Amino acid sequence: MATLSINGVRKSYGSLEVLSNIDLELEDGGFLVLLGPSGCGKSTLLSIIAGLEPSSGGDIFIGERKMNDVHPKDRNIAMVFQSYALYPTMPVRRNIGFGLEMRKVPQGERDAAVQKAAELLQIEHLLDRKPGQLSGGQRQRVAMGRAIVRDPDLFLFDEPLSNLDAKLRVEMRTEIKRLHDRLGTSVVYVTHDQVEAMTLGTKVAVMRNGIIQQLADPQTIYEKPANMFVAGFIGSPT
Ligand code: ADP
Ligand code: MG
Repeated sequence: MATLSINGVRKSYGSLEVLSNIDLELEDGGFLVLLGPSGCGKSTLLSIIAGLEPSSGGDIFIGERKMNDVHPKDRNIAMVFQSYALYPTMPVRRNIGFGLEMRKVPQGERDAAVQKAAELLQIEHLLDRKPGQLSGGQRQRVAMGRAIVRDPDLFLFDEPLSNLDAKLRVEMRTEIKRLHDRLGTSVVYVTHDQVEAMTLGTKVAVMRNGIIQQLADPQTIYEKPANMFVAGFIGSPT
């Protein structure tokens, strides 16, 4: 069963069409990368999947469930942004568990879930620190902890590594891959970075001007780019 199906999704802001007729399928446990230049509509599509932005047409399904009218809080989707807005006055432990706290999950259960997420991300030793006492990479791990702790059906990442320096970017890329291997949760991952897309994705959708140019596994995209734009953007040897 497909975890995520996007059928004919469109989006316009006034007369500006930013997404036209998007069709995508992501199988259970897959890692779909939306790759394309700035302004091509990646974040808009992610926001529509999360329910943070209404579409102008089309349907979104998770499993059999049509999501169009489901409130973002009821979609069981966790999103990680590049600007990981952690609560500065709360220790890491509470930052990670805050979503569960809001949903009135009992403390014992909450603590266990936070502990498990922290172990997975190797940040157990940071649980009592405040975000201001952490490095950029550590903060990024806390932000991921906050997403993992909810045990979502789907992770959405919007350029989560673009604020990090090159070395840390490689480290966190490996970390995200490891987490995906461990958890098996489906991911939609937005980036404009070809290397990130090719190393992380089981499927890559190359976008331009709100249109998917090619949807395929990384090797196919690299070896058989659908058109000049894809070839140029990927840097494949054609
Ligand atoms: P990407 O994430 O690929 O950089 P976005 O999805 O953020 O692209 O934006 C796609 C297009 O939609 C851009 O042209 C952007 O200017 C436009 N856009 C995004 N949000 C709005 C908005 N709230 N109002 C008007 N135009 C918007
Ligand atoms: Mg964006």
